[in-house]
Amino acid sequence: MKSRQFLASAALATSFIVLAPATSAHAAGKADIAKSVLRTQGITLATAHESGVNDGATAKKNIQDTARGKKAKRSNYGNAPGGSVALNKTMLNSMLKLRTSKRFTFKVTEVAGGSHSVGSKHYSGRAFDVGTVNGSRVSPGGSGYTKAKKFMRACKTYGAVLVLGPGDAGHSTHVHCQW
Ligand SMILES: [Zn+2]
Repeated sequence: MKSRQFLASAALATSFIVLAPATSAHAAGKADIAKSVLRTQGITLATAHESGVNDGATAKKNIQDTARGKKAKRSNYGNAPGGSVALNKTMLNSMLKLRTSKRFTFKVTEVAGGSHSVGSKHYSGRAFDVGTVNGSRVSPGGSGYTKAKKFMRACKTYGAVLVLGPGDAGHSTHVHCQW
């Protein structure tokens, strides 16, 4: 009886040891990804809105809240609906990989916060804006244009369903990547 108990617990222990690493390797949740975004040099998160409004919904606050397992706040001015939203995991992971795999440096100007068009996917936590790519401000021409276009193509390779930037109405100085 003792040996059977021992065998049973040994089998349990073995299966636990075998399963644990596989689980943790695939279980990078949103909070973990957000923590990685926060500590990755080369991803700058805006601490203010372009509108000048200062609220708890800046890009940095959105990622900090997500890192703490909380929802990201939306702004409450212009077209923004207020309240909060859980950020999309694929969007977050793509933000991280644009730096760690594609080697871009960039500044995220908005995630769920700020005022965008009515019904914008920013309010659903599925889009982020970028104002600077590889040291150049996104612009309608020159290196700011070339680098923005490269960044836009990279967003698409990560499955972005809508990518806007220079050449698209209202996006001459920022890139919008949406999942
Ligand atoms: Zn946008």
